[in-house]
Amino acid sequence: MRVCVVGAGFSGAVIARELAESGTNCLVVDERGHLAGNCHTERDSDSGIMIHSYGPHIFHTADQDVWEYVNRFGDFMPFRHQVKATVNGKVYSLPINLHTINQFFGTCLSPQEAKDFIDQKVQRGMIEPKSFEDQALRFVGKEIYEEFFRGYTIKQWGVQPKDLPASILKRLPLRFSYDDNYFDHPFQGMPKDGYTKIVKNILQHEKIELRLNCAFEELDEEFEHIFYSGPLDRYFRYDLGRLTYRTLDFEEIRTVGDFQGVAVMNYPDDRIPFTRITEHRHFAPWEERSDKQLTVVYREYSREQKPGDIPYYPVRLLNDKKLLSRYQERAKMEMSTTFVGRLGTYQYIDMDTTIGNSLEESKNYLARK
Ligand code: FAD
Ligand code: UDP
Repeated sequence: MRVCVVGAGFSGAVIARELAESGTNCLVVDERGHLAGNCHTERDSDSGIMIHSYGPHIFHTADQDVWEYVNRFGDFMPFRHQVKATVNGKVYSLPINLHTINQFFGTCLSPQEAKDFIDQKVQRGMIEPKSFEDQALRFVGKEIYEEFFRGYTIKQWGVQPKDLPASILKRLPLRFSYDDNYFDHPFQGMPKDGYTKIVKNILQHEKIELRLNCAFEELDEEFEHIFYSGPLDRYFRYDLGRLTYRTLDFEEIRTVGDFQGVAVMNYPDDRIPFTRITEHRHFAPWEERSDKQLTVVYREYSREQKPGDIPYYPVRLLNDKKLLSRYQERAKMEMSTTFVGRLGTYQYIDMDTTIGNSLEESKNYLARK
C-alpha cells in the first residue's frame, strides 16, 4: 500500500518528497488544476508578468534549514518587500517605522525621541494584551491604531479588533529606525521562476504519482497512511459545524505603465471597500519592463467564506477555538491520518512554517514506521 497526500501545496509537496526519498510510494491529489495551492504563480500570457494568483507571497524565514531546502528546488532572487499605506490621501511607509511616525505626526524625531513620544501614547497598564485592539493600543497608541490598523482589520477579518487575538498584530514589527523592510527575517527572496515551479520540482520524483483535478473524497483506494492538508472540518464532512474562514476576491485591472510604483499598497480606511492593491510586476524587479508595457493589478477584497469559496484565512475566534478543539479530539483518533498545513491545522502560518512543520511530520512518520 502507498501513502496518500491530500493537497499539492507546500505542505503536501514537502511531505511527499521526504517520504519518496526514503523509498515510500505516494499518491498526491489536488482538486485544483494546478500545483502550489494558494502560493500558485503563473505567467500572464499577454504581459509576461508572473502573477501571484491567490495574493502576494513573499518568502521570508529565520530557519536556515528551510531556506536551504527551498533553494534546492529553485533559484531565489533577492527581494525586499516594501509596503506603503494610503491614509487620508497621503502615502505612508509600512511597517510602522520612524519615517511613518515622523510623517504622520509631522515631526522630525530622532529614534530615542520617537520611542519616548510613542511611549507616552501607549496604554502601558495592559501587561499582557489579549485582543488585537489591546495589543495595538499597547504597541502604537490610539492615533496610529485608528488610522492604520482599525479599518484594515475590520475589513480583513469582518469583526471588531477587540474580538480578535493579539497574535495577528504580533506578526508586524514596530521600528524606531528608517528600515522599511516589511519582514525582519534574515533570509528573504522571490523565486525566479515562481512558486509553482518550485513545487513542481519538489514533486518530481519517481515514487510520486500526482493527480490534479482530483478530490480526496473521490478516491477509492486503501492507503497505508494519509497526510491531509485540506480543511480540517471538511475531512469530517463538517459534521460538528463549520470553522470560520475568510475568503478573498480579486478585481483585476489591466493598464499600461507603472500603476502604483510598489508591489503592495494598503488601504486601511474602512470607507474604501478593498484592503490592498497588488501590482505584480514589482515582485520581479530584475525583469526589465518599460513603462509602455501592460501591467496587471489586483484589488483585494476580503469577505466571509461560504460553501464553495476557497478558504484563505482561518479566523480563530472564540467559537472557532471551541469547535477546533472538538475537531482536534476527533483528529487524534484518526490514527492513519496526519493533519498538516494552514487548513489541516487551522492555523495562520506562513510558507516557511508550513515547510518546517512538514519536514518534521515526515520525520516523525518515518521514525514510527
Ligand atoms: P494550501 O496552499 O492552501 O494548499 C492546500 C491544497 O490542498 C490546495 O491546493 C487545495 O486545493 C488542496 N485541497 C484541499 N482539500 C482538498 C481535498 N479534499 N481534495 C483534494 N485537494 C484538496 N506565506 C508566506 O510565507 N509569505 C507570504 O507573503 C504569504 N502571503 C499570503 C497571502 C495570502 C493572501 C494568503 C492567503 C496566504 C499567504 N501566505 C504567505 C501563507 C501561505 O499561503 C501558506 O502558508 C501556504 O499556502 C500553506 O500551504 P499549504 O500547502 O498548507 O496550503
Ligand atoms: N494590518 C493592518 N493594517 C495594515 C497591515 C496589516 O491593520 O496596513 C493588520 C491586519 O489585521 C492584518 C495583520 O495586521 O491581518 C497582519 O498583517 P500582514 O501584513 O501580516 O497580513 P497578511 O499578509 O497575512 O494578509
